[in-house]
Amino acid sequence: MADYKITLLKGDGIGPEIVNQAVKVLDKAAEKFNFTVEYDEALLGGCAIDATGVPLPDETVAKCKASDSVILGAVGGPKWDNQPGNNRPEAGLLGIRGALGLFANLRPSVIFGPLKSASPIKDEIIGDNMDIMIVRELTGGIYFGERGRGDDFAWDTEKYSVAEVERIARVAFDLAMKRNKKLTSVDKANVLESSRLWRETVIKVSKDYPEVELNHMYVDNCAMQLVRNPKQFDVIVTSNIFGDILSDEASMIAGSIGMLASASLSGGKLGLYEPIHGSAPDIAGKGIANPLATILSVAMMLRYSLNQPEAAEAIEAAVSKVLLNNRTPDIYEDGMNKVSCDQMGDLVCAEL
Ligand code: NAD
Repeated sequence: MADYKITLLKGDGIGPEIVNQAVKVLDKAAEKFNFTVEYDEALLGGCAIDATGVPLPDETVAKCKASDSVILGAVGGPKWDNQPGNNRPEAGLLGIRGALGLFANLRPSVIFGPLKSASPIKDEIIGDNMDIMIVRELTGGIYFGERGRGDDFAWDTEKYSVAEVERIARVAFDLAMKRNKKLTSVDKANVLESSRLWRETVIKVSKDYPEVELNHMYVDNCAMQLVRNPKQFDVIVTSNIFGDILSDEASMIAGSIGMLASASLSGGKLGLYEPIHGSAPDIAGKGIANPLATILSVAMMLRYSLNQPEAAEAIEAAVSKVLLNNRTPDIYEDGMNKVSCDQMGDLVCAEL
């Protein structure tokens, strides 16, 4: 029996191309660090609608639950744009997050040295190694609260329980302990009652983590500080809606969408790892997609779900090295070797 069982949800568009490269790199890491991986594939998104009529077949949920972790490519595309809302590919994405109880979304915003010029922020502001981790609560708050409509009004509800805030705060404190022991909790406690409960709860949890330096910031200030002085942040923890917005802002600071990984975690070891970008239908099948976000998602999986931190670091170092001379078209700069999706996967393997 293999040490780890991984379910692959390749999805649509460039999904299969980029996941294939991630698998290649994971196999190489397994060989180098002496562990074994067994794969199973399942359908999610448009390909699942085509094959079964629904974006998230029961069989997919069962396979994911039976595995140590899940690697997801991306879902969606114009072919399925006319599906009713609850049967769109993206409904499969929300469905699988819910079915696996993934309440914590980790979005690192990292600038790889060689890609500094891709950032819209000035060099002296980002410094040499900007590395922010945003921890977003994923299954509560206003996206899931009671909502409704009257004749000429509508409402949505932001609601958090102490238990919901406590468990996401613990994920963030645990991460901060493994990094620079600095945590910023972002809320709007000057206006929102739910934010006041958020802040009180985070302070309560902080008593269990005396080594972590905790500060609080209002979300409007945080949005500004992220572009004014991103280096001040290490780990940021925040609610679903604030995290949605701030993590997109932070990802833009890092420059290219083809580079950014993410993890969604439940209380246990099982996580779902995916690039933050979509299925890029405009370049699907052309062999030019950037597979690095998915490859870096594999590094996150090795670190957070499979307890193989050395392998994670080795992949990240290999990516950094390969970027010195090689680029897929989306991050191409003069003087570099222009490489395909497949070649980029091979180069990372060779560097490993
Ligand atoms: P997108 O991220 O797919 O593409 C935006 C732009 O970035 C495109 O020009 C694309 O070519 C480029 N791009 C994205 N990833 C790239 C990569 N790895 N390498 C090189 N270039 C890359 O966003 P979109 O165009 O708004 O959405 C396309 C489809 O993806 C839609 O159906 C959308 O619903 C879906 N989507 C899925 C997810 C997901 O599966 N998690 C996330 C976002 C969007």
